[in-house]
Amino acid sequence: MKIIHRLTFRYDSKIIAIVNELGIPFKDGFICVCKIAENDARWHELSELLKPFDIVKCGHTLIAEFSKKELDTADYLEIVSKWHHGYPEPSDTIMGFMELTYNVQNYCQKCGIGAFQKAPFRFKKSPVWGQRNILQLNWIFDEYFVKPEIWREVFEPFGIGCRPVVLDKSGRELDSVVQLELTELAELNDLDDLPFDTCASCGRIKYLPITGRFMPPPNKTSAAMFRSNQYFGSGASANRMVIVSQELFAKAQSAGLKGVSYEPCLSKQISN
Ligand SMILES: [Zn+2]
Repeated sequence: MKIIHRLTFRYDSKIIAIVNELGIPFKDGFICVCKIAENDARWHELSELLKPFDIVKCGHTLIAEFSKKELDTADYLEIVSKWHHGYPEPSDTIMGFMELTYNVQNYCQKCGIGAFQKAPFRFKKSPVWGQRNILQLNWIFDEYFVKPEIWREVFEPFGIGCRPVVLDKSGRELDSVVQLELTELAELNDLDDLPFDTCASCGRIKYLPITGRFMPPPNKTSAAMFRSNQYFGSGASANRMVIVSQELFAKAQSAGLKGVSYEPCLSKQISN
């Protein structure tokens, strides 16, 4: 695993001078972006020089780059969307689509925990797939939508069902997209050292999103694609982590699933 530090900052000639002096490439603009590997000798110097500017605290994200071997040998991997396309409808208010799509009896608007899907998602129009064949909607980070033929080829053989998706205006079922039906939940282990928030309104907890490291190991399950018992997110957003088995990952790779990336989970043996 290679750790990359991603720094973002508003254009500031003093910061630019430091970055230039060290010869670190960056993307120029109103918001500048600079990436540097943890094992790059210049990282330590850069982080020291940037201390007065606070960006190491504010605009700093850790990105983990995993080797092919790490991906190919993990028992389980988090599946992460690289393509958010469209919104759950009606999207003019958050509660508009929530009440049509979810049972919100135990839903907390403050932390976003506790909604259960009761009806198909409503799309504004058919997805414009292009080269891709799997997507997530904006706002909904623990559901996946795929082309029907991809569901049959990749997911159905692993016992994963699908749900219809309908057009918001007419309620008509779309034949160009289905939702993967993720029914199984599994407990993630070894979260003790991770920061979490306790909701002031409902008292439930959610973990801050995990970046720059292996994902926590799930309990063994017979499901090839499932979600975590625990919630992740910040503010009013909460989602379960979506995880696939090594077998499903391999099948998705060979079938050319496009629109996602993967982060390996630590195997239970290594973490103990
Ligand atoms: Zn809450």
